[in-house]
Amino acid sequence: MRKNIFVPSKGEYVRGKRPKVECILCSIVKADPKVTNLEVFRSKSFIIAVNLYPYNPGHLMIFPYQHIEEIEKLSLSEVEELHKLTVVSLKILKNIYQPHGFNIGYNLGKGSGASIEHLHLHIVPRYENELSFIDVLSGSKVIVEEPKDTMQKLKNEYKKHTHELLD
Ligand SMILES: [Zn+2]
Repeated sequence: MRKNIFVPSKGEYVRGKRPKVECILCSIVKADPKVTNLEVFRSKSFIIAVNLYPYNPGHLMIFPYQHIEEIEKLSLSEVEELHKLTVVSLKILKNIYQPHGFNIGYNLGKGSGASIEHLHLHIVPRYENELSFIDVLSGSKVIVEEPKDTMQKLKNEYKKHTHELLD
């Protein structure tokens, strides 16, 4: 059985320092060259990007162009747009990674473990048999996927769904 497992300690991005910018997501919006841009799609109000520090392959973030820190600041039409982006993202991730489930959610405020204040929705594909040292020691096949490769793969996939994503 093939296992799609990203080994975080092997990722070049994990070793890199966080760039010194005021807000990493605002920098992605502005396409600031200081920030590794892993975006896969831009809609009317949101960007979908691969997480620089993925929990699993296909770990995405969806965030508004506008720097807001609370979900209360999203308008209902933006919420509707966000839901549509989420639904299409799940479809694409299911197609490519065949995960067994997903975690979807926000970390809001300092007590939540949020490392970026700019509001962003996490979509994390989950697998029943995620990386453990037993897997490594028993010689199971471990597939490393760099966030940049994930980005390239997903970018092509989102392109195919442009009509669905933009209406
Ligand atoms: Zn921001």
